[in-house]
Amino acid sequence: MSLDLAARPQLAEVHAFERLGRHVLFDVASMTFYEVSPIVHHVVEALAAPDARAFRELAGRYRRRDLAAVLAELRQAGVLDRPSPSPARAAAPRPRPAQIRTLELMVTHGCNLRCRYCYGADPRPGWESAPHLFGSRASAMPWEVAKLGVDFLLGASGSHRNLGLVFFGGEPLLELPLIRRVTAYVRDREAASGKRVQLSLSTNGTLLDAAAVDFLVANRIGCQVSIDGPAPVQDANRATADGRGSYAALLPGVRRLIAARPGRVPARVTVASGPVDVPAIVDHLLGLGFGSVHVEPALGGCGAARLSDDEIVALERQTEAVAEKLVGSVLSDRIFDFTNLVRFVRATRVVEERLHHHCGAGRGYLALARDGSFYPCHRFVGMAEYRLGDLAHGLAAAPRRRFTELTVGARPGCSACWARHLCGGGCWKHAVDAHGGLERPDERASCRLIRHQIECAMSINAALAVDDQAILGSAART
Ligand code: SF4
Ligand code: SF4
Repeated sequence: MSLDLAARPQLAEVHAFERLGRHVLFDVASMTFYEVSPIVHHVVEALAAPDARAFRELAGRYRRRDLAAVLAELRQAGVLDRPSPSPARAAAPRPRPAQIRTLELMVTHGCNLRCRYCYGADPRPGWESAPHLFGSRASAMPWEVAKLGVDFLLGASGSHRNLGLVFFGGEPLLELPLIRRVTAYVRDREAASGKRVQLSLSTNGTLLDAAAVDFLVANRIGCQVSIDGPAPVQDANRATADGRGSYAALLPGVRRLIAARPGRVPARVTVASGPVDVPAIVDHLLGLGFGSVHVEPALGGCGAARLSDDEIVALERQTEAVAEKLVGSVLSDRIFDFTNLVRFVRATRVVEERLHHHCGAGRGYLALARDGSFYPCHRFVGMAEYRLGDLAHGLAAAPRRRFTELTVGARPGCSACWARHLCGGGCWKHAVDAHGGLERPDERASCRLIRHQIECAMSINAALAVDDQAILGSAART
């Protein structure tokens, strides 16, 4: 095989990486990945280097016939000398304003906990004047606002038949009477409108008494519990209003809910600054009987609880340890749903969708504040520059258009990112916290962590046989 190292072939848009001890090559246009040998990885890096010298220097490290074989392999995979722009970019759709599918009702801004990373309400002195806190002193959403919110959702959902209504807070179960009343109203309106509304809420778990659990189960209300792990971690991050740890307060209710819905209650963990052991947290929560665990870093407006650069690196290492456990779990038939990775295991195994946005916030997803104002999601409530209209006057087209038009293809920081159609552009609020606007993503933390999770997911798939990928990708269970 002849090899001319003076003529460097043109490399298509690919991403080569080593993760979990495997070398993987991701072809961005086709969104397919291959496990490759270290020499292929090295050749790809040399082809991608800005300076052609790195490619010529390969001759000093590898035999020419091995290099020729690698180039033949890459050519066969279709990643050399391919015309650009990539088909994926050419196929980007024209963004159009979406019909509304999900509405968050901010039923209260009050809470019985004082989590140290909370971006929301807290009546500590001085907090009321902080610029972007949505909470002032606790008070519930008026019934009229909630009722009009339901009417709005049903009316603004156009042709969508399956909708979502989320009770959010603060701690939403502080307003259980309002939730009961809204639920009855929704069920009543569902029949007349011909639509189905999936109800859900996110709770800190401390108010799950028997009556609350019975109500949630009887009314098929999805319930995610925010819990940070074993007692020492939970109590360090999430104190009660009078300064005690909250683990003992939530355990009976959490056990009650899990007993009513075994294996179907999701746990949502916030990892804040300080010592943390994610694999131990995952083990603990799965041991309690949660059906899935999702971990989010404390970033942006979380004050001293925000993760430092070193802690982000540590979080990546710990995520890799969970990834190794996931691979082992398939082989021992004890699969669990660590959603940070399992969602990307699914998304990279069989590509069903190319994301153009990370989430529906501001497009098909809105939050309704207690004063009747709309915001992109709960994290924006109270930020005047992101207010998207109100119940009285309807949605404002111009501010909403910003969310619609900022696709990954149109967003400067994302358009050349290899992960764009798996990530979709990251959380808008992380971008705002990092740079004060929607246009630029949070490269320091958000981008770094999401790309790392995607790499881990592809490496997990590479480590598994096709049948085992399917098991992990479709039916996580413990
Ligand atoms: S990882 Fe960052 S740069 Fe890449 S698409 Fe996501 S938000 Fe954009
Ligand atoms: S903007 Fe961020 S917090 Fe809001 S819905 Fe999207 S991902 Fe969630």
